[in-house]
Amino acid sequence: MSRLIVVSNRVAAPADVKGRAGGLAVALKDALAEHGGVWFGWSGKVAGKTPVKPALTQVGPITYATIDLSRKHYNEYYNGFANRTLWPLFHYRLDLTAFSQQNYSGYLQVNTIFAEKLKRLIKSEDLIWIHDYHLIPMGEELRRAGVTQRMGFFLHTPFPAMEILTALPGHESLIRSLCAYDVVGFQTENDLRAFLDYIVNEAGGGIMGNHLIHAFGHTLRVEIFPIGIDTEDFVRAGQKEIHSAGEKIMRGRPDGFSWIIGVDRLDYSKGLVERFQSFSRLLEAHPAYRRRVALLQIAPPSRSEVPEYREIRRTLEAESGHINGRFAEFDWVPINYLNKSYTRQDLAGFYRASRIGLVTPLRDGMNLVAKEYVAAQNPEDPGVLVLSRFAGAARELETALIVNPFDFEGVADAIARGLEMPLEERRSRWAAMMEGLRANTLTTWRDKFLDTLANAPYEA
Ligand code: UDP
Repeated sequence: MSRLIVVSNRVAAPADVKGRAGGLAVALKDALAEHGGVWFGWSGKVAGKTPVKPALTQVGPITYATIDLSRKHYNEYYNGFANRTLWPLFHYRLDLTAFSQQNYSGYLQVNTIFAEKLKRLIKSEDLIWIHDYHLIPMGEELRRAGVTQRMGFFLHTPFPAMEILTALPGHESLIRSLCAYDVVGFQTENDLRAFLDYIVNEAGGGIMGNHLIHAFGHTLRVEIFPIGIDTEDFVRAGQKEIHSAGEKIMRGRPDGFSWIIGVDRLDYSKGLVERFQSFSRLLEAHPAYRRRVALLQIAPPSRSEVPEYREIRRTLEAESGHINGRFAEFDWVPINYLNKSYTRQDLAGFYRASRIGLVTPLRDGMNLVAKEYVAAQNPEDPGVLVLSRFAGAARELETALIVNPFDFEGVADAIARGLEMPLEERRSRWAAMMEGLRANTLTTWRDKFLDTLANAPYEA
């Protein structure tokens, strides 16, 4: 296969890829190691000004090419347009979507700078794979700079319904730039449907069949590629008996005690306030569960320079404090709310020690935690996944208990049902989900996207 160029907002430092970085970073690094290539993006550092050249680090066949951002670009591109405009908009939160022309200009500038810097590193047969909402216009900028190589884009977030998207000033130009790629990938049918709706009814484009569309003078392939996890990695991690002191303590509870686990970045899209409310309803409606269950909510802070994230953090502190104040006893705290991150190995142990995996985002592109929870279970005695219908993962994990996170009674009832579920039913629901997780892993997702891209360009 051709050499590969991966572009993402953040580039995982080579030293982190085996340790702290997520599964996606490892999967992409493996593809780069196999075919040789470049991983290009922001270094994660803020500098006095955006430098003229990217910093290059060569590790075997992989070139890590990173750029610092100036404070102005960091604020306008990253904290501004990406995380205060596109993120809330793509997660259906028009109420939190802040638009400013200045942030939009900064976003376009960074995409132009990235394209200019990357251009010099591209070779004639390279495949270019650009990731996520931070970098939608980059493909068009590369084309403008004369790059003719095959280019694909994958959107990790949801793609919003047309009525939401058209509230964005400049939506047309954003979607025009998305159509400059040869292949555009989405997580679910729902996202693809929303995109096609926009293409046909707003952009006046056409659907040609065979995954091809024509829009803004360009023919491209659009398809779903639901992202997976390294399933066997989580199976293995879950199998190790003692993972951490924490898990040992979790297992040390008296018989009849059950943990409910939530693991989410501290983000308003994850539905944590609603989750706490639902858990409170459970304790209210089923007093027998008091002292017999506890919610372990792991929520590492993220994007803390964005005001809406500071606000959700304050709200959650108040909410968990309120519920604990109301229900706690001297020897039992209902919500263990932790604002710190854990390694995937630790999480696997926590998942396996929990009878319920509670994954209730208000909107989520996929939600990998849902998949990880399932993969880490003990096949002999698996726990139950309670999953929001608004997570992309709900399209695949159909035998989870699917809930509406806005319906607090419904979520409380699903938790109670999961706690009482007979072993046979738990096993059969779990086995059906595992079959899907084994068939569609992170590696199959990556290879399917790259194969599709390798066959571009597509003709109508
Ligand atoms: N994660 C982690 N440590 C933590 C919390 C989360 O490694 O303390 C990982 C988790 O295992 C998962 C990822 O972060 O792989 C979160 O992915 P997801 O799709 O659930 O949500 P996102 O944060 O991408 O919106």
